[in-house]
This record gives sequence, C-alpha cells and structure tokens, in this order.
Amino acid sequence: MTRHDSKDLRANEVVIDPPKARDAGLMFVGLVRTPFTTRDLCPRQGRLDGPDCRLELEPDWESALEGIERFDHLDVLYWLHESRRDLVAQSPRNDGTTTGTFALRSPVRPNPIGLSRVRLIRREGPVLIVKGLDCLDKTPLLDIKPERCAYTPPAPDKAADTA
Ligand code: SAM
Repeated sequence: MTRHDSKDLRANEVVIDPPKARDAGLMFVGLVRTPFTTRDLCPRQGRLDGPDCRLELEPDWESALEGIERFDHLDVLYWLHESRRDLVAQSPRNDGTTTGTFALRSPVRPNPIGLSRVRLIRREGPVLIVKGLDCLDKTPLLDIKPERCAYTPPAPDKAADTA
C-alpha cells in the first residue's frame, strides 16, 4: 500500500488505524492499460465513448475468455493500487464537507476495488479492447464478468415504479 501522511488530508476528513488485513488471497489476472498516466488525467468515471483501453490477461487466464465475444458490455473489477485505505470520512470537493466512505465511489476505501461497466470493442487473443475505464495505466486487473447472465432478472417495469 502507498504510504500517506496527515498532510494528504483535506479539512474534516477522518482517518482510522485500520485493523490488520486478513489476506483474502486475491490474484491479479492481468493489467489494465489506459492512456491515463497520472491520477489527474483519469476521468472520475469512465465513459462508453472514451478512449480504447486494453485488458491484458496473464497467459494462464487466456482460455477463461472463451465466449466473451457474445457480450457487448462487461463489468471490470480492478485494484486501485495507489489508494490509501484508512479514511472513513472524505471530502471529495475539498470544501470541508465530508461523506462516509461507503456512500462514495471514491478510490479511497478499505479494499480499493474499482468497478466499471465497459463496452467490448474486440478481442485480440489474451487482450480485450474496451471503452469505459477510468483508471491509471498498469492498474492490476482483478476480474471480468458479463454485464448480465441468463439468471439476471429483467429490468423492472418503469410503469410499475410509478403506480
Ligand atoms: N469506476 C470505478 C468505481 O466507481 O468503482 C472507479 C472510480 S474512482 C472515482 C476513479 C478515480 O480513481 C480516477 O479518477 C483516479 O483519480 C483514481 N484512480 C485511478 N486509477 C487509480 C489507481 N490505480 N490507484 C489509485 N487511484 C486511482
């Protein structure tokens, strides 16, 4: 984890001394390659009309991509490896107003997992070309899932919501 000190904090942000991690045994399955070389260059959230990015799978995991071309949209999970992990309240606008970490999609969280829904452009062997990412180049890749599966319930009827 990247080391941080108190000068990195914004007004009224709250830090804790987090309990020691119990290792969940995560494996990185590849790397996310993006044109974003600094955090300031990353969009806050990816856009489906954003630049092409690459999900580069480790060779061992290439065959796990079989069947993926059937899907237009994928959910991608990645490890926001440069994040601090000890804030319980954050001030995203740096104006002294704080919100709880679990009420934000900030990269700063106890387990800095990023989630983006992306558009699959094409597969090139162990590499997926996608649009919709917001992370730094060389962010570790955790997982890829189709946006929906045979058991996903249909979207609720809008008319029923307003009844
Ligand atoms: N779309 C994901 C989500 O909602 O879970 C991530 C959203 S987070 C607000 C995206 C921001 O995280 C970027 O704008 C950038 O400031 C920061 N970021 C991107 N890659 C990172 C990395 N590898 N480590 C730490 N912070 C990162």
